[in-house]
Amino acid sequence: MSKVLAAPEGEERSLDMSYTAPLSTLEIHLDAVARNYLFLQRKMKLGTDCAAVVKADAYGLGATDVSQALFTQNCRHFFVATFEEGAIVRKALLPQGAAAIYVLHGPNGAAPEDFVAEALIPVLNTLPDVEYWARFSSKSGQKQQAVLHLDTGMNRLGMTAKEVADLNSDKDLLRSLNIRYIMSHLACADDPLHPKNHIQLQLFEEMTATMGVAARYSLANSGGILLGEDYHFDLARPGCGLYGINPHPASPNPMQGAITFKCRILQVNDIDHEGTVGYGASYKISPPARYATLSLGYADGYFRSFDNHGTVVIGQEKCKVVGRISMNCIVVDVTALKIPPHPGDWAEIIGPHQTADDLAKQAGTIGYEILTTLGKGHKRIYTGA
Ligand SMILES: *Cc1c(COP(=O)(O)O)cnc(C)c1O
Repeated sequence: MSKVLAAPEGEERSLDMSYTAPLSTLEIHLDAVARNYLFLQRKMKLGTDCAAVVKADAYGLGATDVSQALFTQNCRHFFVATFEEGAIVRKALLPQGAAAIYVLHGPNGAAPEDFVAEALIPVLNTLPDVEYWARFSSKSGQKQQAVLHLDTGMNRLGMTAKEVADLNSDKDLLRSLNIRYIMSHLACADDPLHPKNHIQLQLFEEMTATMGVAARYSLANSGGILLGEDYHFDLARPGCGLYGINPHPASPNPMQGAITFKCRILQVNDIDHEGTVGYGASYKISPPARYATLSLGYADGYFRSFDNHGTVVIGQEKCKVVGRISMNCIVVDVTALKIPPHPGDWAEIIGPHQTADDLAKQAGTIGYEILTTLGKGHKRIYTGA
């Protein structure tokens, strides 16, 4: 191919190592996760415990390593979505008495005896959940632990005021259980100005007051912690902030980025003729141009909605995606780079120069979805343990 731009120095790859190194790496900075945990903990009023939400494999970062790193920071409460996730975290946090693990989707997906065998505590989301767990509790001969979930406005999971009234009319139900916490979840904690925050807070206080049981309470997620002390109660449940996602997106991010996600350049093309890039011929080349093809695609968690506008960082500079996202490839425009890249060089997708939240904005989603979709195919490197 004719060289229409300054030729990359050295036609050949200088080191065979660029062939044998992995094609993509996901570095997880456990020290940053720990610092984020301590930051959120310092925001909380005295006496509030700080849990960690490690559902969905700790938002894609790896539940085992993240849970162990947070345990080292004296975190003793962990939330997962399912029994399977709970069993994985339990294996990471032995002996069983060392930490409490709560299962947000309730006593589903496994026998109650299995929950007890793994020392997993279900969050009871419905009245039938409570009745089911109370029956098991009575049969088992000792009060089984549980968390009660009240719905204060999400209309997703949890018991409504009507169900709480039914629950109140049968005091034996709760008496047969060891209720660790009564919790609810905020719908708009990412927006400190949203009136729904205070409405949910008030409803939570009203609903729990009618219950007349001595209990400990939990309301705040990451965003809720930053809403102030009224929202803290006895246990806070941060997730996103631990992993570097901004809990209040309209304000500067107080959290530290917890991952560096990189992939490698497979090919560099100098193009001196007109044409198009990728499937659907959606990008028209204006020659002369230089493009780099990266080992990254929608199967690796890089959404199709990045087509023709996502950015990656090569040699400290941002380069734009041209054309559509393929299953395992993207093409980026490197024409303007002062130092032309070579096959085998790295491109930063998430890291010091652009955050998961930045990417989310480009793709029309949220940082949570970016992190949880990254995929398992990347070489994982845990640092700062
Ligand atoms: C996911 C989840 C959290 C954590 O929320 P973040 O916004 O990630 O901090 C807390 N509580 C419940 C019930 C959740 O489902």
